[in-house]
Amino acid sequence: MFKEAREIVKNSKSVYVVAHVNPDGDAIGSTFAVYFALKKLGKDVHVIMPSFSSAFEFLPGVEYRVENVKEDEYDLLIALDASDRTRLAMSEEDYNKAKKVIMLDHHQISNPYGDFRYINDLKSSASEIAYLFIKSLEVDFDENIATLLYTGIMTDTGSFNYSNANSDTFRVAADLLDNGARSVEVCKKLNDTMKEAKLKLIAKTVENMEVYYDGKMRYSYISYEEIKALGLDDEDSEGMTNYLRAVEGTEIAVYVRGKSDGSLKVSMRSGGNLDTSKIAIAFGGGGHPRAAGYTMRESLEVEKEKLIKAVGEML
Ligand code: 5GP
Ligand code: MN
Repeated sequence: MFKEAREIVKNSKSVYVVAHVNPDGDAIGSTFAVYFALKKLGKDVHVIMPSFSSAFEFLPGVEYRVENVKEDEYDLLIALDASDRTRLAMSEEDYNKAKKVIMLDHHQISNPYGDFRYINDLKSSASEIAYLFIKSLEVDFDENIATLLYTGIMTDTGSFNYSNANSDTFRVAADLLDNGARSVEVCKKLNDTMKEAKLKLIAKTVENMEVYYDGKMRYSYISYEEIKALGLDDEDSEGMTNYLRAVEGTEIAVYVRGKSDGSLKVSMRSGGNLDTSKIAIAFGGGGHPRAAGYTMRESLEVEKEKLIKAVGEML
C-alpha cells in the first residue's frame, strides 16, 4: 500500500513534516511520530507547526517544532491530517520548495494534492494511518513514537468512544501499548487536567448559550475579548462544542469563537443523525459527519442567521 511512498522516502534526505492549522492531538501526534521514525532512518527531518495548546507540551519532541523552511529547497514534504492544501500550516512558498509531497489523510471529502496520496476515511485518525506508514518503513516503534500515535488516536476518537474507533483501531492501540505508549499519562494530561481559566471558559460557553429548534440546536459565541479576559488565547479557546452537544436532545452544537487575527471560527458537533460536514462545506469549510468547521466569511450577524436557517432545513 505504501510501496511508492517507501521509495520516495528512501530517495529523500531532507524532509519536512506538516499537518493542518489549529493543530490538535492527531495533528501533533501523527507528525511527531513520523518525525521520530524518519530520524531513526537517518533523515534530516523537521516538523513545521504553529503554536498549540500548552496541554500538549508534555509530548516528546514537540519542543523541536519549527515555523518555516530554512532551505531554498528540500527533498520531501509529508503532509498529515489535512484534506486540502490550503489547510496546511505552512506558506505556499515553503510548500513549493518540496521536490516530492506525500499526503496521508483520513477525511471523507478532500481536495487531494501531492505525488503520493493515501486517503482512507475508514481510519480513525491520521495517527492510525501514520502507524501503518511507519510500519511499512520497517522502523521499530519505541515509547515516544507509540505515545504520540496513541495520543492522536485517543483524541480523534474521543477516547475510543466515537464510531470511527473500530476493531482495527483497538488493535493498533493495543500494539502501541505493547510498544510502551504512556496511555495513563496521556489520559491524565489531556482528559483529566485543565487550567482554571478553561473551567471559566466552560462557564462562559454555558452563559452565552442560545437554544433553537426546541433544543435540537445549541449555539454559543465567545468573543476574542472574552477569551483574553479569561487569560486565554487562540490555542486554548477550543474544545467547548462537546459540552453543548452533551445536553440531551441536541442534534447539533455550534461553538463560535473570536480569534486574535479578527476571524470567527465555527466548530460544529453532531448528536448523531445530522451531517455537519455538509453544512461546513456549504460555508467554505470541511470536516467529518460528526465534527466539522469553517471560518466565517461575513459578519457574525449575517453568518449566524444563515447557519441557523441551514440547520433548520436539515433538521
Ligand atoms: P474543530 O471543531 O475541532 O475545530 O474541527 C472539527 C473538524 O472539522 C476538524 O477535524 C477538521 O476536519 C474540520 N475543520 C474545522 N475547521 C475547518 C476548516 O476551516 N476547513 C476545513 N476544511 N475543515 C475544517
Ligand atoms: Mn485527524
